[in-house]
Order: sequence, then structure tokens, then C-alpha cells
Amino acid sequence: MKLLFEKSVPERRGVALGPSDVPTTININEELLRGRSAALPELSELDVVRHFTELSRRNFGVDTNFYPLGSCTMKYNPKVAERIAAYPGFAHLHPLLPQLRMGGMLTQGALAILYDMDLLLREITGMAGFTMQPMAGAHGELTGMMIMAAYHRDRGNGKSIILAPDSAHGTNPASAAIAGYRVVTVPSDANGVMGIEALKKELCEDVAGVMLTCPNTLGLFNPHIREICDLIHSVDGLAYYDGANLNAIVGKARPGDFGFDIVHINLHKTCATPHGGGGPGAGPVGVGEKLVPFLPVSIVVKRDDGTYALEYDRPKSIGYVAPFYGNFGIVLRAYVYILMLGAEGLARVAENAVLNANYIRCKLKGYYQPAVDTVCKHECVFSTTEAMAKQGIHALDVAKALIDRGFHPPTVYFPTIVKEAMMVEPTETESKETLDAFIAAMIEIAELAERDPEQLKAAPVTTCVSRPNETAAAKNLNIASLSS
Ligand SMILES: *Cc1c(COP(=O)(O)O)cnc(C)c1O
Repeated sequence: MKLLFEKSVPERRGVALGPSDVPTTININEELLRGRSAALPELSELDVVRHFTELSRRNFGVDTNFYPLGSCTMKYNPKVAERIAAYPGFAHLHPLLPQLRMGGMLTQGALAILYDMDLLLREITGMAGFTMQPMAGAHGELTGMMIMAAYHRDRGNGKSIILAPDSAHGTNPASAAIAGYRVVTVPSDANGVMGIEALKKELCEDVAGVMLTCPNTLGLFNPHIREICDLIHSVDGLAYYDGANLNAIVGKARPGDFGFDIVHINLHKTCATPHGGGGPGAGPVGVGEKLVPFLPVSIVVKRDDGTYALEYDRPKSIGYVAPFYGNFGIVLRAYVYILMLGAEGLARVAENAVLNANYIRCKLKGYYQPAVDTVCKHECVFSTTEAMAKQGIHALDVAKALIDRGFHPPTVYFPTIVKEAMMVEPTETESKETLDAFIAAMIEIAELAERDPEQLKAAPVTTCVSRPNETAAAKNLNIASLSS
């Protein structure tokens, strides 16, 4: 297939415009007119429709195929959330509309949703108050770390260390470092979780807090979680919960009850928002009672007369972390999702996410090496086997072979503590038939590794690009090379 510009045929037109009957009122300088030098493609409407339809068919998405990308929760998002987010009363709201006074009635509904969402997320996580402002998980982490730092400053604590497990999502140490902390890594124990002894070794008065995701990136729930939070509190530290993939426990257990002081949730993973491609997202941050004064401005409050308003007068606040009110459209989609499912529906989300991951874990453990052979939560991690290594087959080859079979590869080479890692997160929205098809493909690939490893090393053969140098492609994108 040729690129759009290469398809251009001189004088071909999609639309024939008659001569302009609008009087010219300004004269544009000749040198500012690009005329033919703009080199716009000359095409018929049908050429253009076919070109873009063809390109759109090359997209891979949850709406077309299974997407078991670990730690990303690439689940199906109900279309009703899109529908409601597109209502003109929401989609056309201008962020500068007044809250009350003239025109205020136009914003009261949106403010009510932000206010209600705060209450719902408190109930779901066991925290005392939320900010809806952060626009992604990593942004929520940074906000949480800034709240932690403000809290310690307020108490005159000169603490400088954040503890994080060696299985941490990369954004955790990055966020702590950007907030000015030194990150000390706590190794996982033989069971794949942060152990008490390893934690005690690093614990000291200089520890500002711990950052943990539980279940962690191996999909494992830490049975010592309460004790870990208590230990951190014993040195006047705070416990930060990375709730990016809250679908593992939503409706079943609450980070606030485990002892966590700060929580972020990725609404774009746990609730409804089509994601991938880097956006858009929302990473609300919830905090315990003693940290509420440090939340960013503004906060939506409900007045005695029942109206909603934005509160800015919060002397201990860390200030602004986003313009206006965060990604309102994403919060709105999540709000629709939560109300639609209700408490029982949310608990079923967790049940099915965990059931699906364990189904895959049990069906594949005879063919791939499980990172830890115990019950997992929302995701499971495998490695390629010794036998595959002998044939020169790596996790990357398995991933590429899955593409030819119509599946998005799992996350590979993460978490870094597992060699040749393949991290599968099936999510709760996939049917048994889809999981079975994926399992069958994985088994077929495992058998090919033995029988015909060269075939796997050549995969994928069904895509327009086979094995690009991913680093070079990201830094020096050349779309012309994608068009053949
Ligand atoms: C996705 C994820 C993040 C980062 O979230 P973004 O919205 O991509 O910034 C952080 N922690 C965990 C465990 C995640 O899975």
C-alpha cells in the first residue's frame, strides 16, 4: 500500500467547489500564500475513505481482540459510559463557567458528580478524602508523594527515604525520586512478596514511607500487609498504596483497612475508559484523615443550601497539580461504571479477574514456568522453560508468535525480578472461549518451540512490520517504512 501523498494524482478532486461568492475583505501578502507549494494530496473521496479505513484496520484494540497486557488492565469498557460522557451538557462544559452566580446552574451537575465520586471512592478504598485532579497513575503517585512530603515537613520530620519492593512498577521509584526522596529497594522473599525481615533491615527513622502495590506485579497478595503498614507507622512513616489495578480486590477488600495512608486508583484501568496509546487517564488520590488538609486545590464541597462549590482556601494544601478539575470526562465515565455495577457488581469484577488469571495459570503451568506456583490475584507471570532456552526461544519470540495468532502479547521482561517474564492479565471481561483460544495458542507455541523453533524466530509474518528495533522506532519514527 502506498502512502496517502504517493497516491496523489494531479487534478484529481474529492469535492468540486464553485467559485467563491464571498467578497475578499483582506489582502494576504503574496509571500504568505502557500498555493501549490503546500503540496496537498489530490485524491477522490473514495481514495481517502479506503486509505483511512485500511489504516484503521491495522489498529489492535480491546474492541477487536484479546489484549492480556499485564499490569495494564486492558479490559472491555462498556459503551454506555462513552455515550453519557458525550452528552452535550458534559462534553461542552467550559472549565471557566462560574460555579454559582450567573451561569452557575450549568456547572452544578458536574460538581455534584465530582463530589459524589469522592464519596464513592472513599467507600471503595476506606480513605477519608479524595482529589480527582491527577491525570494518570504516575501523576497520582507524584501527588501522593508530595502530600507525604508536605505532611513530614509540617511535623518537622527531616525524612529522606522511600522504601519500595524490587517488583515495583517503574513509576513508583520514579515518582518518589521526583518528589525528592531517595529510593531504597527491599528485596522480595522466596514467596515473591516483600518480607518482614527484609523490611526490618531497611527500616529506620529516616524512612518517610513505603510504596507498595498489593497484589504486586507478580499478582500476589502480601499476607504481611497489615504488619508492614504497622512497622512503617512505628517510625512515623506513611504507607502508600498503588491501586492502579484495583480490579484485583475492588469490592472485596480496602487498602484503608490494611493500614494504608495514601492510595491512588487508575480509573482508566479499574473503571471504564478506553486506554492505550498513552491517554487519557485519571488517577484520583485518596488519603486518611490526618492527610486531608494537604490534598491539592480545588476540592468540591457541598454547602448547607445544597449547592456545590470549589474550595481553594486550604492553607496546608500542596497547591495545584492540574489545571481546572482534572480529566473530568474520565472521572465521569468511571462514575457511570461504578453506579452501573453497584457494590455487588464491583465485587464480581474482582472475582472474575482473579478467576480468569488463575484459569490461565493452571492451564499453562505444564507448558511454561510459573514465576511462583501459588494462587494469584488479577495476573500471573510465566517464564519460558529451560527446554525453550536450549532451542534459543525467548519470551520475545513467544510474544511475537502470539501476534500472528491474533492476540496482543502479554507484558514481557517485567517484572524485572523474573527472567524471561511474560505477565498475563486477562481481566474480568473475557469469556472462557476467549481464554481457551489464548491458552491453545500458547500451547501450540510451546510445542513449536520444540519442533520448529525457526518458525517462531521469524514471527510475526502477518503484520506489515515484523521485528522493528523498538527503541529506534520510538525515537526515530519513519512511517514511510510502515506503508509497504
Ligand atoms: C499502570 C500502572 C501505573 C502507572 O499508571 P499510568 O496511568 O500509566 O501513569 C502505576 N502502577 C501500576 C502497578 C500500574 O499498573
